[in-house]
Amino acid sequence: MAGGWARDGAVSEQIEDSIQDELSRMKARRQPVGESLTHCAECEEPIPEARRAALPGVKLCIDCQQERDSAYTQRGGINRRGSKDSQLK
Ligand SMILES: [Zn+2]
Repeated sequence: MAGGWARDGAVSEQIEDSIQDELSRMKARRQPVGESLTHCAECEEPIPEARRAALPGVKLCIDCQQERDSAYTQRGGINRRGSKDSQLK
């Protein structure tokens, strides 16, 4: 009778759970914990004090951080773009 309906709800709840899980994992990855470095761990450029104050535990200069961020964005972006396309068509 109304069985299919309840099952749909349970499935989307599960999907939301795993999205939340993935999001919190990504957030954890983006917020390094520990002591801020005075110089970038990758290229050894000095990290500006304002950046160190704004990002506790920062290990990379702006350039290296942006490179990493864009690598993550690319990975997530492919999926997002794909599902947007299929919604529009
Ligand atoms: Zn750097």
